[in-house]
Amino acid sequence: MRPAKRRRRLRPRDQGGSDREVRPTIIIVTVPYRSYVLVSRDQVARNFRNVRSVVGPEVEVAAVVKADAYGHGALEVSRVLTAEGARWLAVSSVEEGVALRCGGIRAPRILIMGGFLPYEGEAVVEHGLTPVLHSLDQIRQVHELAQGVLAVPYHPIRYHLKIDSGMGRLGTRASAAAILQVLKQTPQAHLEGLMTHFASAADYTSSQTAEQLACFHAVCAHLRSAGVDAAKVHTSSTNAIGYGRTEGWHNMVRAGHALYGYVSPARGEAPPQLLKVQPALTWKAKLLAVKDIPEGATVGYGGTFRAPHPMRIGILGAGYADGIFHRLSNRGKAIADGKLTNILGAISMDLTTIDLSHTSALAPGDDVTLLGCEGEARLDAQQIARVAGTISYNILCSISARVHRIYV
Ligand SMILES: *Cc1c(COP(=O)(O)O)cnc(C)c1O
Repeated sequence: MRPAKRRRRLRPRDQGGSDREVRPTIIIVTVPYRSYVLVSRDQVARNFRNVRSVVGPEVEVAAVVKADAYGHGALEVSRVLTAEGARWLAVSSVEEGVALRCGGIRAPRILIMGGFLPYEGEAVVEHGLTPVLHSLDQIRQVHELAQGVLAVPYHPIRYHLKIDSGMGRLGTRASAAAILQVLKQTPQAHLEGLMTHFASAADYTSSQTAEQLACFHAVCAHLRSAGVDAAKVHTSSTNAIGYGRTEGWHNMVRAGHALYGYVSPARGEAPPQLLKVQPALTWKAKLLAVKDIPEGATVGYGGTFRAPHPMRIGILGAGYADGIFHRLSNRGKAIADGKLTNILGAISMDLTTIDLSHTSALAPGDDVTLLGCEGEARLDAQQIARVAGTISYNILCSISARVHRIYV
């Protein structure tokens, strides 16, 4: 995009002279928001197809759309994915699941990975959500819920049981024998899935994934020997898919980050990356002002940037309230007129200042790229995360609700 040219094209014909207009008018829709993200539906769909082709037709791909689809917009992303044939979606909370159902998402299963609290039981049933349970007590609660809510006709409520194989977060640490005992007492709760979650799938200096799998497989084998066979077994998310930890794929995987175009960098000697996914999100902000400052002028709160020579600066209509990390003050980059340029001074709540000394093509109202590509210049969530001292997930999820989502 070349905003300078766009301004000329948008000049009214009576000023530009219609006899000079030999080319057909190109209509470029300017987006009337100070900060917005463009989400490519096609790229999300391509990423989903790529995950499917990597794991093959025998392995179901549960598409993880928690946290508003990692900032991409859960409802629209879910529409794209279900149109692509996704049968399983996964979110974090009952509230997120209800929002999808109320938005018209009819996927056969919406897995609630963060489980449910007692007051959410009726919503789980009413909206046809599938909870992940992480304690034996919760299995009893689901059994009671099924008896209370759905006495006639009799329908067991399906759930997935999460095993804590070493993540040390949600998941039961009960023995297989204890699990079996509760299963016998809870016939109206139906164990549809067995799952666990890896803590270090991209870390090839650690044996943790192998240890977690051994622990998980021991529980599964014990249950199977007692005749309990869950229809779905799943342990892998993006990193275990991308780095080809096939022994962890079973018959379902849970892919989140990959759908949005990312795989975490590996530690140690990792096998080749199987996923070929690309970021689906571009984040822009508008210039509110462009001005020249003399040598020695300071920029922003605390005067933490001092111009070493006369400079042109641009003030963007986005700040940390939009999700630009404060840690990027004097360290981060943006793409302006096709070139990477520096963020100057402290990030403010609503404003960020950048160096525009390299260009005279930009004016107030023009867009600058905070995340995405312009020509050869590229800035993705992983690069931003490295500078901000965090992870790419954190960058994507932090783009705030104030930033408009536009689907292209
Ligand atoms: C978020 C999450 C995933 C998806 O992880 P990605 O790395 O984004 O693919 C899978 N499983 C569980 C339990 C999660 O919380």
